[in-house]
This record gives sequence, structure tokens and C-alpha cells, in this order.
Amino acid sequence: MSINVALDGPSGAGKSTIAKAAAQKLKYLYVDTGAMYRAVALYVLSNGKNPDDENEVELALDNININLIHTDEGQRIILNGEDVSDKIRTPEISMAASKVSAIPKTREFLLSLQKNIAKENNVIMDGRDIGTVVLPQAQVKIFLTASSEERARRRYEELIAKGEKVEYEDILRDINERDYNDTHREIAPLKKADDAIEIDSTSISLEAAIDKIVWTIKNVVTKDTRYETPQLRPVIKGKKTPLWKRIAHEFLRLVAKAIYYTYLDLHFEGVENVPKDGSNIFASNHRSYTDPILISLKPKVMFSFMAKEELFKKNIFFTLIIKMFGAFPVSRGKGGAEAIDKSIERLNKGYNLVIFPEGTRSKDGKVLKGKTGVALVAAMAQVPVIPVGIVFEGKIKFRRKVTVRFGEPIIPKEIGVDDCSSKKLRMLKNKIMASITELVEGNVNKL
Ligand code: C5P
Repeated sequence: MSINVALDGPSGAGKSTIAKAAAQKLKYLYVDTGAMYRAVALYVLSNGKNPDDENEVELALDNININLIHTDEGQRIILNGEDVSDKIRTPEISMAASKVSAIPKTREFLLSLQKNIAKENNVIMDGRDIGTVVLPQAQVKIFLTASSEERARRRYEELIAKGEKVEYEDILRDINERDYNDTHREIAPLKKADDAIEIDSTSISLEAAIDKIVWTIKNVVTKDTRYETPQLRPVIKGKKTPLWKRIAHEFLRLVAKAIYYTYLDLHFEGVENVPKDGSNIFASNHRSYTDPILISLKPKVMFSFMAKEELFKKNIFFTLIIKMFGAFPVSRGKGGAEAIDKSIERLNKGYNLVIFPEGTRSKDGKVLKGKTGVALVAAMAQVPVIPVGIVFEGKIKFRRKVTVRFGEPIIPKEIGVDDCSSKKLRMLKNKIMASITELVEGNVNKL
């Protein structure tokens, strides 16, 4: 059976560039369905017909013959025997394509062509309704988005580089108009399929988005993330967090400190192990929902941590608090690629990242086995890992003795982890888990 990947999303999210590169890596066929609508639009316009007029477009369809051919350079689109691949890339055609695509007969006309290609080939098919209408049975569905401003900026730069005279505002207006048309049309509107994986490309590089998609596909198709060793993406400390954010964070820290020191009998050990700078991973055992806050009370660097998407749906107050403390949502079952990208993005911005490698809270305080995710992020980003042990004593909640112990930083390279091979990741993970266990059990060189 052929493997079908449906890639949907709004205009200019980078679908075609990303799908083309991903298809090349996976040796799948890349099918750009937008080009088919564009070819219809080209025929309609060049024959003096009105793309808004349903009757005129329907009649025109009788004279249209579209074929796709696949060359080493990618897909070429043939309209009535002529290769029109280059002619269809103009703003007028974009707008007319959006109009003709809202006409049911046009969609019907192209649907069987699209379905047939997917039946016979492993494909990455990009469009608006691939996951919902064309290939609802696709094994992988991806919904690629980006903010409209970012999409307009990319398109603007692309056209300027081609030497075209365009205005950013015009492009943004066109994009917003096409978004509106695509999402509001009655037939096959642009919509994320319920089972699609959403990827937002606003602030990640093209390479990162390609990696993420290739990885997601392999993950779903082969159920094996180790299929190919992930590449190193060392953290480049650059962008500083805005001052207001740092002040707000510091203020929150002081408030939290006052509350925690009143409510708990709180102790910190090994504080000298905490680096003064950011971009470290704090890998801790997990006892309570507020662990990230406990850890971030001491080091004076901004913290961030990943939290299950569900936690952001609990109540507004809770969501606000965890967001202020730097939480970012990760969804389950998305192959981990999203969590890794977001983690590296935060580390790049100079945040410290709290990760709970056990993946869930330990009920009795015993350290659980741990997952390799933490090692993967640390190895990819090549950042130090500070092991943390949180120990709760006694049962009475008020003034309960809680000790937070920071262990010596583990530097991936220093212990020979200089790539992301599964052997090295396992080694790093074992080292992290052993340090956390030692800290929890108290067998550490105390201060
Ligand atoms: O993706 P591209 O911008 O080339 O698509 C051109 C137009 O074709 C889009 O604005 C959209 O309205 C339409 N389209 C569609 N369904 C698809 C692919 C494209 O309606 N599957």
C-alpha cells in the first residue's frame, strides 16, 4: 500500500518548499495541488473568462486537460500540452486560483486526478483540503501554519529577490483575503483535520521545519524515531529576553519565594552548582505540579518548562500562573519533535529549561526509569544538564520539609556525548538519572 502524507495549511506557510525537500529526503513524490488550481485559473484568465463566474468557469473546465509530470527538479504542470509551471506563479493567478477553487465543479474536476496519483505512489500532497477531503485515509496529516505577517514577509522577500516590484502591504492584504476565501468557502474549506499534527513555522527555520516533518513522517510510518540520527543544533546564545519580561519574572520569583518560604520548610542544597548564566537544562525528579516553580526560586535566570497541553486547559488562573513562570505547551503523541524544537528555541533565547525525565509524577518519591527525551535535547543543543533532586519529608502539608538539591553539571561533550546516536543518548540519560537518584537519596557531597 502506498504511503500518503497530507500537508495542508494557508497560503505562504512554506508548504511547497518544505514538502519538496521532505519528499526528496524520503524519496516520495511531491504533489502540489495548488498548481492544479492555478492552471485552471490561468486557462480561465487567458481565455478572457471571469474567475468569479461559476457558469463561465464550469464551461471552461470542458476544455481543460491537466497533467503532472515528475522530473528530477520536481513537479511540472502541463496545461493542454503546454508546460505552464512558471507562468502560474503570479499574484493575479494566485487570486484567481483562490476564486476558481471555491467552485464545486472545479474541485470535483481535480479530485479524481489527485486521488489517483496518491493511490499509486508514496506522496506528500500539499493543499488545503488534502487531509479532510482528498486523502482522509492518509497515514500522516500535517497542518502547517505561520502568522499572516510572517507569510507575507516571506513572499515579499521571495518576489523582491526575483526582481519584482511589490509592496509588503499589498501582499499582506492578498494573503489575508486568500485566507478568508479559503477558510470561508462552502466546499472543502481550509481546515485542520482532527487527526492532523499542527506545525507552526513562524519562528522556526526552514531546515528545522523540514527536519520536523521528515521526522514526524518517519515516526508515524516506521514508529521508530531512531531511524536516522538527529543532527546537532548547538545553542547559540544571542537574543536577550526583553527587560520587562526579566523584571516581571524577578517580581514573580520574589512573590513565589515569600509564599513558599511561609508555607513550606524549604531548604536548598548545592546552589553553588547552579551556573550564573542561562541556557542550561535542569533535569529533576517530579513530585508535584509546582516543582518547576520550586526549582526556579533559586537561580536568578529566567526559566521555562514544557507542560502537557491539558494543563493549559485547567483554568484561566492556573494557565496564567504557569505561563508567567515560562511554561509552554507540548501535545502528546506528536513524536516529540515539537517539544524538542520548542525546547531548543527557549535555550537559544537564554532561558534555563526544566525537564522532568520521568515523564510523570512519582507517587512515593522513588525515582522512576526516565525517558531519553532529556538526553536528546541536551545532546542536540550541547548544553549542560544540572541534575536536581526534590525531597518531600513527612505528610502534613503545612510547613512540610522540602529540600531541593542541585548536583554538579553534566556537560554532554565532557562525557563523550558529541552526537545523537542512540548509544550516546542512552549513556547520557543513564548518567542524568543516576545523578538525580543520588540527589534524591541524599548520597551527595553535601555543602
Ligand atoms: O497553494 P497555492 O497558493 O499554490 O494554491 C493556490 C490556490 O488554490 C489557493 O489560494 C487555494 O484557494 C486553492 N487551493 C485549494 N485547494 C487545494 C490547493 C489549493 O483550494 N488543495
